[in-house]
Amino acid sequence: MTDHVPVLIAGAGPSGLALAVELARRGIGCRVVDRAAGPFAGSRAKGLQPRTLEVLEDLGVLDAVLAGGAPFPAFRMYSGRDVLWERDLGEVLGTALPRRGPDVPYPLPWLIPQWRTDAILADRLAELGGRVERSTELVGFDQDDDGVTATLRHDGRDERVRADYLVGADGGRSFVRKHAGVGFAGTTYESERTLIGDVRAEGVEGFFCHMFTGGDLAKRFSLWNLPADDHYQFVAAVDPGDEPEPTLATVRRMLVERSGRTDIRLHDLRWISLYRINVRMAERFRVGRVFLVGDAAHVHSSAGGQGLNTSVQDSYNLGWKLAAVLGGAPAGLLDSYHDERFPVAAEVLDVSTALHRNGFRATTAPVGTAPAIHQLDITYRGSALAVDDRVAPGRVRAGDRAPDAPLRTGGRLFEVFRGPRWTLLAFGGAPTPDFGPGVAVHPVAVDDDPARVYDVTGGTNVLVRPDGYIGLITPDVGRVREYLRGVR
Ligand SMILES: Cc1cc2nc3c(=O)[nH]c(=O)nc-3n(C[C@H](O)[C@H](O)[C@H](O)COP(=O)(O)OP(=O)(O)OC[C@H]3O[C@@H](n4cnc5c(N)ncnc54)[C@H](O)[C@@H]3O)c2cc1C
Repeated sequence: MTDHVPVLIAGAGPSGLALAVELARRGIGCRVVDRAAGPFAGSRAKGLQPRTLEVLEDLGVLDAVLAGGAPFPAFRMYSGRDVLWERDLGEVLGTALPRRGPDVPYPLPWLIPQWRTDAILADRLAELGGRVERSTELVGFDQDDDGVTATLRHDGRDERVRADYLVGADGGRSFVRKHAGVGFAGTTYESERTLIGDVRAEGVEGFFCHMFTGGDLAKRFSLWNLPADDHYQFVAAVDPGDEPEPTLATVRRMLVERSGRTDIRLHDLRWISLYRINVRMAERFRVGRVFLVGDAAHVHSSAGGQGLNTSVQDSYNLGWKLAAVLGGAPAGLLDSYHDERFPVAAEVLDVSTALHRNGFRATTAPVGTAPAIHQLDITYRGSALAVDDRVAPGRVRAGDRAPDAPLRTGGRLFEVFRGPRWTLLAFGGAPTPDFGPGVAVHPVAVDDDPARVYDVTGGTNVLVRPDGYIGLITPDVGRVREYLRGVR
């Protein structure tokens, strides 16, 4: 007999876990399988961007993330033992960072090793009654009009599972993507390699990204402090043509060569990886009932720290749509996943490639271009789900991130939005009808802060999607019911 599950998720990295949390909090059954026996131990993606912090707040894990991390550190450049300069992230990138304001509660990136972010999401999933099935590999699947039949291999046997939908959150080498016949167009930087890993270090002082270059940025060796951890993440660009053994001895040799220092002692190597940069995107993020999220859909340089962030936001976009369609919404809603996330991923590839080529300086990606590194200005304007009925739209439009704002009555808009539902912000105007469960109606006075932040006048209705983007802006409250018919 074949078990049935609404959603099967292959891969329990950040994208698979974020999706599982999204579905679990909506009461949608899913199985999350991962072929690895245990969680990944490396620090890998260690910077959470401001928009991701907002998403994690909604998913109920922000407190744990803040407790397990630290503000992004400054960069300290050495020449031998001498400190040449110390610069904050904005100075290093050559761009202004967002400022805290009523609309932006978390303006700066947050430092936290990926293994801890993964653990926090897995704990949240457990809290919601879910779990990751480890040592369980997806080895085959077929789809038809009604669902997907998948084969899972574990304990030396194959299990058949029937799912309404399959999501490939299985990383850059995605089996799901390959088996679905989706191309992964792009390039591999054959001559560029990076050695990265986690190691203990003695002989460096302070909480920084400690940088040693020996005067040549192409030979950079960085040691990043990690919060609440004795290990540092090292990142070392490998010389073209060099094929170093990924060992502690190699890391020690590179540090001495590049820093000229023998007083820094590296030991207890916990994780090491020698990797080539791939800049590639899946040709499609959806094939029928099969979806791709995270690295399975897009990989790029780590410059700008976008990988994990984009991955979590893919899942945040897909999760509510899958739940809605499983609950009876028109299946066409799922088309908007590819339509909205594909252009975002393409821009992330462009921005990270420009940063990589430009020695990490953001001169080609100033704040205000989409998506800037903080990802706050990602917008789905132009999506079929973004409808703005106004003759003269204001600064904030349908498709944009719904900004935060303090409320005169106490609290913040983000608290109003929190949870798996739609929110109708009714600015001034007449009393609004009840739209049923799943839509919270929140009246806002026209002279309160949100009206200024949203740049709207009295009588405007702003319908905010479950993922915190604006779906509809209209003066006609009757249009809200019409809009909702297409999405739930
Ligand atoms: C060496 C390295 C360094 C990085 N450094 C940075 C950085 O500094 N900054 C940054 O932003 N990003 C970085 N990244 C990228 C970041 O780690 C990824 O963007 C992020 O992990 C993507 O999450 P994901 O969930 O999509 O995929 P992953 O984290 O790769 O998770 C995929 C999961 O799928 C599982 N899996 C694979 N195949 C199957 C199968 N057939 N069946 C079941 N399970 C399967 C795997 O075991 C794995 O657990 C780095 C990546 C690597 C590899």
